[in-house]
Amino acid sequence: MKKKTQLIHGGIFGDEKTGAVSVPIFQVSTYKQYGPGNHTGYEYSRTGNPTRHALEEMIKELESGERGFAFASGMAAMTAVLMLFKSGDHVLMTDDVYGGSFRLITKVMNRFDIQVTFVDTSNLANIEKEIKDNTKALFIETPTNPLLKITDIEGAAKIAKANNLLTVVDNTFSTPYWQNPITLGADIVVHSATKYIGGHSDVVAGLVVVNDEKLGEDLHFVQNSTGGVLGPQDSWLLMRGIKTLGLRMEETEKNTHAIVDFLQEHKNVTNVFYPGIESHANHEIAKKQARGFGGMVSFDVGSAEKAADVLSKVQYFTLAESLGAVESLISIPALMTHASIPAERRAELGITDGLIRISVGIEDSEDLIEDLKNALK
Ligand SMILES: *Cc1c(COP(=O)(O)O)cnc(C)c1O
Repeated sequence: MKKKTQLIHGGIFGDEKTGAVSVPIFQVSTYKQYGPGNHTGYEYSRTGNPTRHALEEMIKELESGERGFAFASGMAAMTAVLMLFKSGDHVLMTDDVYGGSFRLITKVMNRFDIQVTFVDTSNLANIEKEIKDNTKALFIETPTNPLLKITDIEGAAKIAKANNLLTVVDNTFSTPYWQNPITLGADIVVHSATKYIGGHSDVVAGLVVVNDEKLGEDLHFVQNSTGGVLGPQDSWLLMRGIKTLGLRMEETEKNTHAIVDFLQEHKNVTNVFYPGIESHANHEIAKKQARGFGGMVSFDVGSAEKAADVLSKVQYFTLAESLGAVESLISIPALMTHASIPAERRAELGITDGLIRISVGIEDSEDLIEDLKNALK
């Protein structure tokens, strides 16, 4: 089955009992039992809910995994994955991971003595050097935010496997439509489904897919024990979003390429970061491991004042955090998503004060370009 067909026909199609072509929202907490312990397979909705289950089957198939899980947010998903480890374990993590992941591992998981070393995983040679006796996993995010750095998933997973580490990939930016880490050797895929998978800025959710039954059992044990599950309404909203994921990603890709071409030609833009550009440091890897480059672009306009000026002039780009929705969004990482990183560290990472990040939506690209043209004057 091709990806676009899978988005419509994957997972569980509609409702067998009524013929409804949309999976019903099972707004229910508990289930009638025929006799004590003799039930339909559903006993209590923390453990399992038919609407959530349909979503979990869908994401499992989209990521070519063994089992899928839906959580109340991307961070709840990430937390559950980290709960597979125990006190004294050490993990490696991409150095410019999502700020929430950074906070979770350095300010919460550290309380349980789960240790971390941050590595620039876009250069594979850095990984092996940091592996210790107690290292259990390699957490990769690719592409990263806001500089769109790319890690070679297949190469990284090989190093991890040779050292008995699990490979976990945050696939939020690429989505299962463009990139499937499990087929490249990863063990676990994590998504903030709040972004492209939901796609309409109306739901907060997280998804996880694992590549083997044992990991599936372990993660279900954590999911059921810690309870950060996604409710049936939000599960249904994600399934609704998933149906048009292909259309949205294709349209986003077209718009983004047009905008990147425009930005690269513009005299007031000094630098454009996008993995689809041939001069991007990891362009070849991005092309090899993903079918599209996505809708996130960062560009430098030279100073904080100029960046603020652009933001005050745009009409169709909404000033907001988050990304991956139908409407285009714009932000200044140094003042918003990355404000908590000290200025010196930001400079090291290349997150300048004049850097603007956009999440390209599915408006008409001519309007979006016209908007940027006016704002950049
Ligand atoms: C937003 C985001 C998260 C966190 O997801 P929430 O749904 O906001 O909890 C994790 N990773 C990446 C790459 C993200 O963009």
